[in-house]
Amino acid sequence: MSQTLEGTDEFHPSPSELNGEPSEGIFGRSPLFQKCDRFTKADELRHVGLYPYFRTIESPQDTEVIINGHKMLMLGSNSYMGLTNDPRIKDAAIKAVEKYGSGCAGSRFLNGTLDIHIELEEQIADYLDKEAALVFTTGFQTNLGVISALVGREDNVFIDRTDHASIVDGARLGFGKTFKFMHNDVDDLDRLLSNSSAKGKMIVVDGIYSMEGDIVRLPEIVKVAQKHRAAIFVDDAHSLGVLGRIGNGTADHFNLTDEVDVIGGTFSKSLASIGGYVAADRAIIEYLKHHARALIFSASMAPACVAATQKALEIIIAEPERREMLWKNTSYMLKELKRLGLDTGDSETPIIPVVIGEMEKCFAFWRALHDAGIFVNPVVAPATPANRCLIRLSVMATHTEEQLSRALSIIEQVARRLGVIGAEA
Ligand code: PMP
Repeated sequence: MSQTLEGTDEFHPSPSELNGEPSEGIFGRSPLFQKCDRFTKADELRHVGLYPYFRTIESPQDTEVIINGHKMLMLGSNSYMGLTNDPRIKDAAIKAVEKYGSGCAGSRFLNGTLDIHIELEEQIADYLDKEAALVFTTGFQTNLGVISALVGREDNVFIDRTDHASIVDGARLGFGKTFKFMHNDVDDLDRLLSNSSAKGKMIVVDGIYSMEGDIVRLPEIVKVAQKHRAAIFVDDAHSLGVLGRIGNGTADHFNLTDEVDVIGGTFSKSLASIGGYVAADRAIIEYLKHHARALIFSASMAPACVAATQKALEIIIAEPERREMLWKNTSYMLKELKRLGLDTGDSETPIIPVVIGEMEKCFAFWRALHDAGIFVNPVVAPATPANRCLIRLSVMATHTEEQLSRALSIIEQVARRLGVIGAEA
C-alpha cells in the first residue's frame, strides 16, 4: 500500500484497496483474469528478441515489404498469385466504395445483401462447377457456419488431425460428435467410419494442408466416403487459384468435382481480398442460407472486398501464366532446398516447410533470417510435434528468380551456421 500511495506509476490501487479492503473478493479483480496475469511467455520471447508475431508492416503485402523502415523479402505471405497490390484490383475496390459506401451495416440475411454479393456467388458457383454458392465475411466464419449447420445432433464429423483451426472450431460448435483421423491416413478414416453408427457422416479435409503444404489424398478419401455414404467437405483456402485446371481448386485437380459435396474456402489468399465461400448443390446452399449462424448473425462482406474478389477472380482466369509462374517458382524452391539437404516434408505446393527441430533452434533460425531481411513464419508446438518445429515459406507467382536465389543463399548460410545442415565440404 505504501508504495502505491507514494504514487509510483507501476501499480494502480483499485478503489477497494484505497478503502483498506483486500484486492481479491467481491470488489477486487476477478480470478477470471489470473490466467492473463500469469501469461508471460510472449514477454519472455520479446525480452530475448525472439518474438516473431504481430510484426508491423508499413507497405502493401507484396514480394517485398517495409518493416521498421527496412525492405524485407516476403516469403511468408498467402498472396500466392501476388495480386494484393494489383492496380486493377485496387481500382475496382475504390469504385465499389464510391458506389456502395464503406460497409453494409448488417448481415446478408437482413439489410446486408448487395447485387454484387449475388453476382460474386454466381461467379464462384460457375468457377467451381457447382449449382450454387454462398459468400461469408471470412473463411473462418465459413467453416464455423457450414460445419455447425450441417452436422446435427445425430451426425458425426470426421476431421483430419491437421485440419485448420476453423474446421476444428466448426466441428466443436456443431451438435454432432467429432472424430479426428491421423493426417492423410485413409485407413484410419475408414476404421473410424466403420465404427460409427451415426445417421449422417461428414468428412472435412483441407485441399492443401496449411502448415506442411501437402495435398489431400482425395481419390482415396472419395472411395472410403462412398463406401460409408459419408459426405465430403473440402476446404480449399490454400488451393483456390493454385490447384485445378483454371485455379478452381482441389476437386478439379483430381477431376472429382461431382464426388465432393461441399467446397469451401477463403478470398484472403490468392484472391487478394477478405471473405469466404461455400459451393454445393442448390438445396445445401438454401439450407445454409437459413441455418448458418456465422452468416445470419454477422455483417456481410464489405463492398470493397467483394469488388476486389471479383476482379482478382477475373484476372486469375484470364492470366493462367500467373499460375504457371507460381508452379515454376515452387518447383525451383523445392528442388533447391532439397539439394541443400533441408527437410521439406511432403510438400508439393507453394507452402514449403523447412523442418528445423527444437523450438529454440527454430526461433533462432527465424531471427537470423529476419536480421538478414527475409520475412518467414516459424511454426512451433503445439502446431507441430515438439521436435519438428519448422519455418514455413510460401512462394508467390511474382517472386523473381533473383529474389528466390538470394533467399536460398541466406537460408543456406543460416542452416550451416546453426548446424541444420552440415558444414560445406
Ligand atoms: N481454412 C484454412 C485452411 C486456412 O488456412 C484459413 C486461413 N489461414 C482459413 C480457413 C480462414 O480463412 P480466413 O482468413 O478467410 O478467415
